[in-house]
Amino acid sequence: MLFDVHAHYDDERFDEDRDIILSSMLDNNVGHIINIGYNLKSSRDSIALSEKYPFMYAAVGFHPSDAHLMTKEDFDEIKKLAQHPKVVAIGEIGLDYYYGKETEEVQRRVFREQIELAKEVNLPFQVHNRDSTRDCVDILRESNMGERRGMMHCFSESRETAKKILDLGMKISIGGVLTFKNNVKTVEVVKYVPIEDLMIETDCPYLAPVPYRGKRNSSLYIHAVAEKIAELKGMDVDEVIAITEKNAKNFFDIKD
Ligand SMILES: [Zn+2]
Repeated sequence: MLFDVHAHYDDERFDEDRDIILSSMLDNNVGHIINIGYNLKSSRDSIALSEKYPFMYAAVGFHPSDAHLMTKEDFDEIKKLAQHPKVVAIGEIGLDYYYGKETEEVQRRVFREQIELAKEVNLPFQVHNRDSTRDCVDILRESNMGERRGMMHCFSESRETAKKILDLGMKISIGGVLTFKNNVKTVEVVKYVPIEDLMIETDCPYLAPVPYRGKRNSSLYIHAVAEKIAELKGMDVDEVIAITEKNAKNFFDIKD
């Protein structure tokens, strides 16, 4: 079944129909979803969703856009939340220089601290990177990542950057951007990266894939990403779904 490794169902855009939509996942071949925290509240909300739905899991952490808001108490609380049995990753963490020009320095510090945290609690991590690739790769390379390592969420950088990420022993997650017209870069990345190193995601409610582009995204549309990967790799879509599911279950150590 489809495994959506990065979603935001705590977002207010799901307030009207969250339960209805999540209750329809299993009937639509969506077998697992990881809901991602971007600050303390959304980390707690992610855990609450994972407690309510057996097929949902949580990641906890501070997004780079909220990094400057993270207090010492918040960090300690994230560390505590990370012990919850349904928390399978630290995230989303990373750098975003597109929105956070004036907080670049604090972003780098908080990114490093959260990589260390992931190592300490023995969890993998999910990385957000926007307009900050050089610093992001430098920090990942310099940091002692530990065995669990990380994955790049919604990867939209070049093939060269993909190679650097794979060389670090990390994985790459592909979202709806792959299906956008004229997106030559991500098409090249998908052709280049071995299927064993790929996972798929929605980042919903954002970035709905074609033919749903512009709509509120949800895991019900993630099949469009699997179909595009199958087309580019000359594989059967069921095979892509099975392998990316297996990759995600191994990576996040999910047994069911
Ligand atoms: Zn996200």
